[in-house]
Amino acid sequence: MQQLKSYHRPDSVEAVLSLLDRPDVKTTVIGGGTSLVATLPEEVEEVVDLQAVGLTAVVHTPDRMTIGAMVRLQSLVADKEAPELLRRMAHREGPNTFRNAASLGGVLVDANSESELLAALLVFEAVVSVQTSAGGRQKTLPDFLADVAGSLDGGLVTAVSLKKSGQTAHARVARTPQDKPIVAALARKAENGDVLLALCGVGETAVLVDPTALDTLNPTGDFRGSSVYRKQMAAVLSERILNELS
Ligand SMILES: Cc1cc2nc3c(=O)[nH]c(=O)nc-3n(C[C@H](O)[C@H](O)[C@H](O)COP(=O)(O)OP(=O)(O)OC[C@H]3O[C@@H](n4cnc5c(N)ncnc54)[C@H](O)[C@@H]3O)c2cc1C
Repeated sequence: MQQLKSYHRPDSVEAVLSLLDRPDVKTTVIGGGTSLVATLPEEVEEVVDLQAVGLTAVVHTPDRMTIGAMVRLQSLVADKEAPELLRRMAHREGPNTFRNAASLGGVLVDANSESELLAALLVFEAVVSVQTSAGGRQKTLPDFLADVAGSLDGGLVTAVSLKKSGQTAHARVARTPQDKPIVAALARKAENGDVLLALCGVGETAVLVDPTALDTLNPTGDFRGSSVYRKQMAAVLSERILNELS
């Protein structure tokens, strides 16, 4: 059984960073705790709860929105200024009780292959703000997801900024309408005509893909869908939503 030595609940990002910046103490942060509490690695000695830190602001401009890392998924669902696709995909992440606990920062760091919210953030060209004790930096979401631990570099996600405009489409296959997707495809046509396509269920995390290179996908199969099935569904769903946008 896990034996934690300390639980911290600081009230500033600086205090969080100084707790994380102790090489001799294995420390991790908790956002909403929906994933971490069940999967806490054995070696973690201390946890830092982000609940009192803030990071809960959502700032809208005409073309962008910036979302604090501790904004709960239910707040995104309820945000009438947010793109409709983002709201629907936040709703899909889980039931009400889950959405009121889980934070956007947790979704990013969890980097789940089945997260349609993560795929939505990819098509809205999200940029992730990370703060470490050495300073702040920004990464595009694909770069962030390519190496989550390296991107965090011992720090924390503070915010995500994304574009709001463009036409969008979404399609999925799942065992039941409420279930996690086996494969999901999301696309957005930006105002300059560029089309972004993101897929769930074909890689280790949700991924942005080149619509002309779908035959290079090599998804891992599981009890819900073989590799061949996932690859075929990726092509079928992508074609369907890209046709909707053309
Ligand atoms: C019933 C249930 C259903 C779920 N369904 C889905 C699903 O459909 N799709 C899906 O993608 N996931 C799902 N999950 C997994 C997970 O709960 C989500 O990814 C969730 O949104 C994580 O958010 P959280 O705030 O609870 O993160 P936590 O559990 O608190 O943390 C998750 C990870 O992120 C890190 N972290 C959290 N916030 C930050 C931050 N600001 N900076 C740096 N690191 C941070 C933590 O250290 C930890 O490693 C599900 C979990 C449960 C229990």
